[in-house]
Amino acid sequence: MALRQPESMDECVYFTNRAVDKGHVECWVFRENCPKCKKAPMGKPRDKKTGAVKIRAKEYTCPACNHTVEKVAYEDTLTASIAYTCPHCSHKGETQIPFKRKSFEGAKALVFLCDKCKGKIPITKKMKDVGSKDELPEEEG
Ligand SMILES: [Zn+2]
Ligand SMILES: [Zn+2]
Repeated sequence: MALRQPESMDECVYFTNRAVDKGHVECWVFRENCPKCKKAPMGKPRDKKTGAVKIRAKEYTCPACNHTVEKVAYEDTLTASIAYTCPHCSHKGETQIPFKRKSFEGAKALVFLCDKCKGKIPITKKMKDVGSKDELPEEEG
């Protein structure tokens, strides 16, 4: 499976590239066309005066027909593409999952499973949001 990579950040509603424990995850979510008119990808609304995109808006608007969808409702319909190196078994793989955040150790995260070892791999907003786990010293052998 070869995932389509974004050519520019404008194509994405979400993009991250980060270390997850000993592994690594790159995740991106393409914008999809308006569910109503299907003519244009949904985007954050723009300020009527300045034309600046309202980054923190809680909804997405279609530039073609002005159809507006709540941010979470729209994002739940999207697909996240993920290229990863598993933190559990070092397997390198690619996968696609629904862009739905779940609770993971007390934080909202995208969680997917490694194809090989089926270990859970979380993509949290910030790693420090994941419930602090007391690190036990590693035992050798
Ligand atoms: Zn539309
Ligand atoms: Zn694995």
